[in-house]
Amino acid sequence: MPSEQAEAREQALAERLRSSLRGEVIDRSHPGYEEARAVWNGLIDRRPAVIARCAGTADVVEAVAAAREHRPVVSIRGGGHQVAGSAVCDDGLVIDLSHMKGVHVDPSARTARAQAGVTWGELDRETQLHGLVTPGGEISATGIAGLTLGGGLGFVMRTFGLSCDSVRSLEIVTADGTVRTASREEEPDIFWAARGGGRGLGVVTSFEFGLHPLGPEVAGVLVLHPYERAEEVLRAWRDATYTAPETVTPEILLWSVPADPAIPQELHRSHCVMVGAVYGGPPGDGATAALAPQRELGPPLMDLSGTVPYVTLQSANTWRFPDGERYFMKSHFMEDLTDEAIRTLVDWDSRRPTPESLIVIRTLGGAVARVGPDDSAFAHRSARYNVSIDAGWRDPALDEAAIGWARSAWDAMKPFSSGGTYVNFAGLGEDASELRGAVFGSHEERLERIRAAYDPEGLFAPAARRP
Ligand SMILES: Cc1cc2nc3c(=O)[nH]c(=O)nc-3n(C[C@H](O)[C@H](O)[C@H](O)COP(=O)(O)OP(=O)(O)OC[C@H]3O[C@@H](n4cnc5c(N)ncnc54)[C@H](O)[C@@H]3O)c2cc1C
Repeated sequence: MPSEQAEAREQALAERLRSSLRGEVIDRSHPGYEEARAVWNGLIDRRPAVIARCAGTADVVEAVAAAREHRPVVSIRGGGHQVAGSAVCDDGLVIDLSHMKGVHVDPSARTARAQAGVTWGELDRETQLHGLVTPGGEISATGIAGLTLGGGLGFVMRTFGLSCDSVRSLEIVTADGTVRTASREEEPDIFWAARGGGRGLGVVTSFEFGLHPLGPEVAGVLVLHPYERAEEVLRAWRDATYTAPETVTPEILLWSVPADPAIPQELHRSHCVMVGAVYGGPPGDGATAALAPQRELGPPLMDLSGTVPYVTLQSANTWRFPDGERYFMKSHFMEDLTDEAIRTLVDWDSRRPTPESLIVIRTLGGAVARVGPDDSAFAHRSARYNVSIDAGWRDPALDEAAIGWARSAWDAMKPFSSGGTYVNFAGLGEDASELRGAVFGSHEERLERIRAAYDPEGLFAPAARRP
């Protein structure tokens, strides 16, 4: 509990916000406090002083003004899915955008304007009415804001680029309370920084995305292979990625067979290798031929490949990451996937602490690599792969074992890393400053200069340090 003095400060901040916000102001005594402070990751247990649930940009301006006057620690909440729980802070102010859900699609201009509380499922639903997409993440419940500001790896990234590559402009409230539009022409420094280095620049209230024609049906590969052949399948998969066209975005998962009624029960929850790939164009013979090398990697356990609605694809795995369970992630970008790296991965995968835990390798290149290395703050354009080691569990008694497994597996993979790590896959306690070099590489200095220019008093400095 806060001291009397701290309590008085918190009340003054809450009163200041109540007098000026259209949205709800939630303090420790509010009946909705417990729900409002919870984020997706049940491992996170932070108790902010006040949550300012903004209803629009004017509320964000007021929340930033209140922060300038009262100087609490500030965190910003988009979809609340960052594994590290960076959307919430202890004893500070949460600027919560999760109720800002507006989406407007302009099909003739092929653009969508989306507010910062929108999730990928919500955006896809609107853009797919017009057979259009902006490349998003692979789980529909994640927020567009955090994911885009950190880069955005997804099922069609080799065809259409990272999520941040489709941003045409964004609206941001900076520390001085000014509402700015950032694009290539206006505020180009913010526009550069926000695409991959967007933590702690200010509060982004909406994004304008360029859209690409895709869907409603998309062709994809989903093949489950027996775990005994894991190394062999990984090697064959890697070789197939070398020649995959840009229309194909391959990934491979070391995971457990889902308890899906379409799959024989005796296989449920057993270790397997899952090969996935999506074709970023119309289904048909061209798609089938382009996907064939991903599909034909030896005799499978099950082949579930086919054509599905894009919105189904984007939400197919969401149920496997339920709210409130416990999670920890770490990742490496990699230039290549050597046989030794594969052996190491399979060795660590075989020690996975729970069936919910997994290792995912995503393939970059294509449109991701066509953007110049210094065109945006995202610092990993030349990486061929990202490997993420994702621990998931329910029982708090497993906290140490699960986090320990992910950390040790990550350490074991370090010799094969490009040295880069993905900000969006950083877990609890990963907010140490040494992470920054690995995340931003040679862009770190320019990012610091931009942050200092727009936030000289460091209002968002804690938010910038968190992943
Ligand atoms: C189940 C799951 C699947 C995922 N799959 C993918 C994937 O396929 N591809 C991928 O690239 N990533 C993926 N991620 C990682 C994801 O990109 C990050 O968790 C991302 O931060 C989520 O964004 P959010 O808005 O939900 O998060 P939040 O926790 O709300 O925010 C994350 C960070 O961004 C900051 N932030 C949020 N909104 C704003 C804003 N409006 N203005 C300024 N700063 C803001 C926050 O302060 C925080 O530091 C996945 C995560 C999970 C949990």
